[in-house]
Formats: sequence, C-alpha cells, structure tokens
Amino acid sequence: MTARVPLFINNQLVASASEQIIPVTNPATGEVISEAPLTTPAEMQQAIADAKQAFKTWRNVAVPERSRLMLRYQALLKEHHDELAEILSQETGKVFEDAKGDVWRGIEVVEQAANIAPQLMGESVENVAPGIDTVSYIQPLGVCTGITPFNFPAMIPLWMFPMAIACGNTFILKPSEQDPHTPMRLAELFREAGAPEGVLQVVHGSKEQVDTLLTHDDIKAVSFVGSVNVGQHVYRTATDHLKRAQCFAGAKNHMVVMPDASKQQVINNIVGASVGAAGQRCMAISVAVLVGEAREWLPDIKEALANVRPGAWNDPEAAFGPVISPKARERVLSLIAKGKEEGATCLIDGSDCKVDGLPNGNWIGPTVFSGVTPDMSIYKEEIFGPVLCCMEAENLDDALELVNNSPYGNGTSIFTDSGAIARRYRHEVEVGQVGINVPIPVPLPFFSFTGWKGSFYGDQHAYGKQAVRFYTETKTVTSRWFEDAAKPSGPNMTINLK
Ligand code: NAD
Repeated sequence: MTARVPLFINNQLVASASEQIIPVTNPATGEVISEAPLTTPAEMQQAIADAKQAFKTWRNVAVPERSRLMLRYQALLKEHHDELAEILSQETGKVFEDAKGDVWRGIEVVEQAANIAPQLMGESVENVAPGIDTVSYIQPLGVCTGITPFNFPAMIPLWMFPMAIACGNTFILKPSEQDPHTPMRLAELFREAGAPEGVLQVVHGSKEQVDTLLTHDDIKAVSFVGSVNVGQHVYRTATDHLKRAQCFAGAKNHMVVMPDASKQQVINNIVGASVGAAGQRCMAISVAVLVGEAREWLPDIKEALANVRPGAWNDPEAAFGPVISPKARERVLSLIAKGKEEGATCLIDGSDCKVDGLPNGNWIGPTVFSGVTPDMSIYKEEIFGPVLCCMEAENLDDALELVNNSPYGNGTSIFTDSGAIARRYRHEVEVGQVGINVPIPVPLPFFSFTGWKGSFYGDQHAYGKQAVRFYTETKTVTSRWFEDAAKPSGPNMTINLK
C-alpha cells in the first residue's frame, strides 16, 4: 500500500481522514512515492483553531527565546542538510548539489529570523508635548498562512514561516501537493528544535484547502508563491476577505548581453542560469538579448548548451534533472512545438531527450531558440523548462524597451564591462531584481525578494525588513504621568496634546 503523507498538527504527525488523495511521484523514475491527502474541511478548521489557540501563548514568549528557537533550528537544518537535500531530490528530481542549494538558501532566512530582536524595535520620541512621550511597538498579527510552489520545497517555506513565527505569529503551511516530503521534514526538525505545539501546522491539498485559508476570518495574512493565474486568484480572494497578502507569481527574465562583456563569462553564466534546475526557477534566465556585435556569439552559446545534459539526482555529470511531472513536460513540449510553428529557429531541440536507465522520467534536454520575437508564444508565456529564447537588439535602448515592455518584472541581468552602461540599465529597467554580471540576482535575506509588475502582487516582499513589516502591526502609545494628580485643572476639550 502506498504511504500517506500525514498532516502536521500540534507537533503530531496525524493521518488525514480524507478519501481524496494526490499521488506524489519521483520525476526521474515516474514511481509513485506516496500520496498527499486533500485535508478535510473539519481538519482544516481544527488546524486553524489550534493555531489561533497557540498564538495566545506564543505571542508572549520572550523575543530572545524566539531567537534561540531559530538558532537551534538553524543548527539542526545544517546538521540534516544532506538528508533534506536527498529527500528533496527524490520528489523534485533536482541534482544533489542544486537540492543542497535549495536548502541552503532557506537556512540563510532562518539565520535572519534568529536575529529578530533588532528588527522588532519600535521608535520613541520623548516630549511630543510637555511631559508627554510617544513610543511605538511592533506586535504580531495572529495566524498567518503560506501557500508554496513545487520548485523550491525547502527555500520557499523557509522564506515564510521562520520570519512569521519569529515575529510572534503562528503559521499554517500548505506546501505544494507535488513535493510535500521536504516541508514535512522541515516541520519535524522545527519541533525537534523546540517549537511549541500549534505554532507551525502543515496541511495538504490544493484549491479547496487554499480557498479555506484565504477566506477564514482567523487567518490574518497570506503569503503565496506560484504561477501567475493562481497568484492573481489568491491575491484577489485574500484581499477581498480583508487580509494582508503578498503573492509572488510567474516570471520571464532577460539577460542583456552587451558586446563589451567578457564573452567567456557570458557563456559560462548563461548555461547554468537558463537550464539549471531544468529551467524551473522563477529567476531562471529564459531570454538572452544579444546586443550589437554580441549577436555573433550565438554559435558559442549554442555549443555550450549542447554540451550539458540532464540526469539522475546522484549522477555527477548531470547538469540538471527532469521537469516535475508528465503534465509539465507535455506543456513545455507543446510550447517548443509552438515556437517552431510560429517561426522561431530551433537551434537545439531537447524534446526527444532520453536518459539511460530512467525511461519513465520527465526528461527534456537543453533547448535553444533564435529569431524569437515578442509576439511569439515562447516569448509571451512562462515556459518553466530548460528552454532559452535568444533575441537580438541593435543597442541598449532597444534592449531596455524590450525588457520594460514585458508584463513580468522578477529578475534581469546585464553583462557588460562598462560602468556607465550598467548604471543606466539598473536605473531605467523596470524589474525588481537586477544583476550586473550576476546572472541570478536573488538577494540575501537581510534584503528582501523584490519582484515587480506581474511577478508580484502586494507591497511588502518576502524576508528582510519587508517581511517584518508584513507579519506585524505597529502600535503607538502616547503617555503622560501626573506628578500631582490632585492639582486642579479644567476639562481638556481640544484634540491637541497639552
Ligand atoms: P502553482 O500556482 O500551480 O501552485 C502554487 C500553489 O498554489 C500550490 O501550493 C498549489 O497547491 C496551489 N494551487 C494550485 N492551484 C490553485 C488554485 N486554483 N487555487 C488555489 N491554490 C492553488 O505553481 P507551481 O507550478 O507549483 O510553481 C511554479 C510557479 O511558481 C511558476 O510560475 C514560478 O514562476 C512561480 N514561482 C514564483 C516565484 C517568485 O518569487 N516570483 C518563486 C518560485 C516560483
């Protein structure tokens, strides 16, 4: 019998009573590893009620104590780094080093959460009027929730719950139903670190369970990462129900290649940034814009990409793994077919990719198109596969216009040796995360993850100072103490402080 993924409720692994399940498969072998339950409505209500109850105690736990929980958690995550990466590889297909990177980028956020006290400092002004002082305090919201995608099952849950919980909230995580084992292990390690019952709950499911979270009165803030259509639905529903929401959505990231850049650096960086993780990164470079004479580098880019191949998670020669599911593979293959139909030149076609010994994996080889134009489906749609679209621009003005016309604004990079060109690009480009000779400019957690336009709905971003603002409320207190309370004075009929 196939194993069921349990729920994580009040620090216990609980078997769901649900009769509806979603199979969880290993994308490299096609084998069903387990089944994720669609949490029942009663179980959802109970998980939320218990998190609400736990908040009453957790909000009063001393801030240094919350920090110490995160310090112990960070140490445990490091101790279990390889184990977590192996679990992650089995359910995502990521190659081992990449899986370790997924876990590591999450550990870095836990480190930021461990240093929560200075981030929770309010402000104060003495003598806002004679003998009157105003102080502001930062307080948690209550029960927060996170809905996460399949492509970073360690990093993205860790973007959310450590910061929310360090701020004094309790949290309900609804991880992707396609790879729930990594988030479950994260939850178990959180319990081992000393998290009290009900502070972190994990439920499984899809639309119905997400909609329960989005509409429930006791959920105060919603963090979502996923595709653009679902992101818009989540943002609209959560805000319609008067909740805070931050929704990180799809992307189409351009690398602008100037002719004065180091050609070898461009080629080395474009390979990993475009097909690494099978292109299933929201910050993957999916479009290379070759400017001026850099257009002549196309054969070299093609050759470099032709030399990498996908493979099993533990194959040291494999550059990346399979895509997540047969459905995802079909979608990518249909977009590749559309690219050809619509007139792009397919320089390398990975559609028929096979990997020895793994006939049932969702393989797609590196795929490179040239002659791509903005009206083509392969440009307009997020492909989320190992496919690079190469486009051309006469000059920096044209490249900027192209990038700024994209409805997405997650990440972009420019490769150049000119400080003046780089400065102009970073100033004028309408994208939230810019790399200068850095292909995937994901900021470390003392900054925030700052996608723009159709890549983000909300105002406060993930981790860093913005996460603290997102997961907290500010309370201002204005006070005075009477030295001689008995001193006669008339009633104060104004709104002025005096
Ligand atoms: P997805 O939108 O299919 O799923 C994301 C989450 O939403 C999952 O937990 C899923 O169960 C839930 N969900 C699915 N359909 C739903 C519905 N109709 N109503 C409510 N909830 C629903 O995304 P995915 O395929 O798991 O992840 C890939 C996508 O995530 C890509 O588009 C990628 O660009 C995006 N992503 C964005 C960022 C970012 O920071 N901008 C980071 C990582 C991934």
